Amino acid sequence: EAPLGLHLRAVALNSTHVAVEAADVTESHRLARVRRDFVANVSHELKTPIGALQLLAEALLDATEVPAAEAASDEDPNEDLLAARRFAERIHNESARMGRLVNELLELSRLQGAEPLPTPEPVAVDWVIAEVIDRTRTTASAKNIEVVYSGPKGATVYGSDSQVATAVTNLVENAIAYSGDDTKVELTLRQDDDWIEIDVADQGIGIAPHDVDRIFERFYRADQARSRSTGGTGLGLAIVKHIATNHGGRVDVTSSLGDGSTFTLRLPARPPEAPLPLPTAIEI
Ligand code: ADP
Repeated sequence: EAPLGLHLRAVALNSTHVAVEAADVTESHRLARVRRDFVANVSHELKTPIGALQLLAEALLDATEVPAAEAASDEDPNEDLLAARRFAERIHNESARMGRLVNELLELSRLQGAEPLPTPEPVAVDWVIAEVIDRTRTTASAKNIEVVYSGPKGATVYGSDSQVATAVTNLVENAIAYSGDDTKVELTLRQDDDWIEIDVADQGIGIAPHDVDRIFERFYRADQARSRSTGGTGLGLAIVKHIATNHGGRVDVTSSLGDGSTFTLRLPARPPEAPLPLPTAIEI
């Protein structure tokens, strides 16, 4: 369905007259939708060939594996085989990165199409956090990073289970990716009547002041060379920001270069208020 293409604004002129301004936003809505659909379609079409590339690269990796006996022997290694294996590894890594990019583009275009949230549901956010910590355990332990959580039990936010999980996952994955070995990532949950705030604090490389304002933009990555080695896409935080705003919340960061960063995700602790009933009669 086409969105209603009119933005109305009432301006009180004096005690008896009101002016109504009307702006036609049909065209800008249409263009935004065309762009979103285009990104979603292209991403979707790219999924199959990228998947095929990944499988082929895996087959090549298997085919070029140097048997253990041969690797342990004193004989000269087969240089051609080793070169082929290095190329296969590159193809594998690059296609995995393309796969992530396409998935995140799809996710972002899905989120942009779903504003505001259709029906907010109660989400057991401490469970979501526990699951995220569990899923990121392998990546964290590869760098000997300890991921800990502290917060009250039974905390509930209102929104989408899967979106909250995606937002927390992206923040925790970043905290791990942009931290050195043997550090700590701390998740803390605070709650008041209206909001739940989740801090994800790391002891990592930090973010320079001139980058802080831009990291939530699509594709923005502080210090390209440094970021590239993480295999990231520059879309993770844009997705987090969309999820936060879709929930009527926000995401902020405080950071100092070299000392680490703390991202704070704020989500509603109460269901949204029911819309006011429309007046049944208007007196003029
Ligand atoms: P990426 O895929 O590059 O991680 P994101 O959108 O998740 O994309 O993050 C954007 C940029 O913000 C990153 O490239 C990185 O420079 C910076 N960044 C994000 N999280 C952190 C963090 N915890 N510590 C330091 N820098 C970070």
